[in-house]
Amino acid sequence: MDLIIRHAHLRNRPGTWDVGITGDRITTIAEHLAETAAVELDASGNLVVPTYVNGHVHLDKCHLQDKMRPNKNYSFAECLELTWEHKAQYTVEDILDRAGRAIQEGILNGTTVFRAFADVDTIGKLRPLEGLLALRERWRDVVHIEVVAFPQEGLIRDPGTSDLMEEAMRMGADVVGGLPWFEMLDEDAWTHIDQCFKLAKQYDKDIHMLVDDTDNPLSRSLEYLAVKTTREGYQGRVSASHCGALAAYDEVHAQKVMDLVKQASISISSNPHVSLVVQGRFDLEPIRRGITRVKQMWQRGINLFASQDDVADPFYPFGRNDQQEVAAYVCHTAHMTAPSEIEAAFDFVTYNPARALRLEGYGLDPGCKADLNVLAAPTVRQVLRLQQPPTWVVRDGKVLAHNQLQREFTK
Ligand SMILES: [Zn+2]
Repeated sequence: MDLIIRHAHLRNRPGTWDVGITGDRITTIAEHLAETAAVELDASGNLVVPTYVNGHVHLDKCHLQDKMRPNKNYSFAECLELTWEHKAQYTVEDILDRAGRAIQEGILNGTTVFRAFADVDTIGKLRPLEGLLALRERWRDVVHIEVVAFPQEGLIRDPGTSDLMEEAMRMGADVVGGLPWFEMLDEDAWTHIDQCFKLAKQYDKDIHMLVDDTDNPLSRSLEYLAVKTTREGYQGRVSASHCGALAAYDEVHAQKVMDLVKQASISISSNPHVSLVVQGRFDLEPIRRGITRVKQMWQRGINLFASQDDVADPFYPFGRNDQQEVAAYVCHTAHMTAPSEIEAAFDFVTYNPARALRLEGYGLDPGCKADLNVLAAPTVRQVLRLQQPPTWVVRDGKVLAHNQLQREFTK
């Protein structure tokens, strides 16, 4: 054995366990492993879990906060405009530098899988995509990065983008992105979705769209996406982020749409910290939370996950690329604070995004990939309460990061 993690607490298993790793796989889990390994880590009764998965993050825009002029009101239009001022001047090196810093932050916080969105439009053209493809290449042996070709300015609204999207897929993008709700008419939103499916089928790729990212109850592209997914036989291959408008629909219509989403096996990503600051901007008290129907959809058995979305960019001034923080926000915004709900929120940054991204070998059983976080607390509730970074991050059976928190009470 190459590595043994000793005295690990595992979710849903009483006692402590030794996890044995050979090469890049978990080989044995036992109460006590008699053999020794070249590297041994003592979890000291703390939780060991598969590494976190961040299924939605804009790494082309990250850390623009350090150089952009400040936001005045955080309207969606303003966030876009601020991005335009930089997007046209991006260079591959500049993206590699900013995104590389976000990846390092993510690793130190226990994430080894990133689904990164690259703007594809007539402003930055294919430069953001080139940058993130270069990022995927540079970090290939360290973390799993998949690149989404994302039409941030719309397809019909931004003539010429459809051709760029096709070129993006030829260049090697992993996932077809979409932003249907941003088109000016419902009919255009449907055409947008149709075009994305055509491209995805042509290149045999999965789809991940940002859907109805607004408080407007008349924004209704999720139902079309769901029906299209089922009709095209694309169940299990489509993710939709945000879907805030669903929370504003009347109950009858919302129930219908959630049924359609379930039938289509669409995975839904809620990025609650970002929705908290971007949505509800037209509300005078009470100010809504801006998230989708997270708890209702989870209770229906829809695959919910939660993602970082933005790291210090024009849309969000904070963001540590920290999936523990994201899960904690889910607990707050979606009222998921009962024990089973806290466990579920933790699945939103582990098993559920892994299912959405169809990752091979994800989990904590013999035969699974040895991509593991040795955490700094014994239970999920304590991990989210304290939000300390993992003591060790293991990837491919090797230690990738180590965090040591030193605090002293001096009185
Ligand atoms: Zn986003």
